[in-house]
Amino acid sequence: MRSSQPTAPTSRTGSCLCGGVRFSIHGELAPIQICHCSQCRKAQGGPLATNVPVSANQLQWLAGQELLREFESSPGKVRAFCSVCGSPVYSQRGHQPDVLRIRAGLLDEPLDAPLAFHQHTASRARWWPETQDSLPQYDAARPA
Ligand SMILES: [Zn+2]
Ligand SMILES: [Zn+2]
Repeated sequence: MRSSQPTAPTSRTGSCLCGGVRFSIHGELAPIQICHCSQCRKAQGGPLATNVPVSANQLQWLAGQELLREFESSPGKVRAFCSVCGSPVYSQRGHQPDVLRIRAGLLDEPLDAPLAFHQHTASRARWWPETQDSLPQYDAARPA
């Protein structure tokens, strides 16, 4: 099994497609979580979502926070996106208000971050190949 050690402390930047929303993340980056649930598919327009949990005090908005719009996709869970270009930016759960799940595709390259696990694999898009890596897989949400 691959190591899930966080990467070395540093600072990373990211932005939405139009560049209106920009942010930086300070400190260790948690491993990227891969979600195959149907909501993530719809929200990303792809077979899965790649999310990095970031604590609110690690995240600094550099520009465009006023461009963000939130959609409550299920009770207590919001998904924020750029109102100009539609890029998904983060999701946030009501019982974990201090954790934002930043969409990893927004992070500027080169990004050398490990992957953590697959979750909601029972909901996997059937047109997408079966996972071939050795990461942990969970049929539903990863157990807390
Ligand atoms: Zn944008
Ligand atoms: Zn999901």
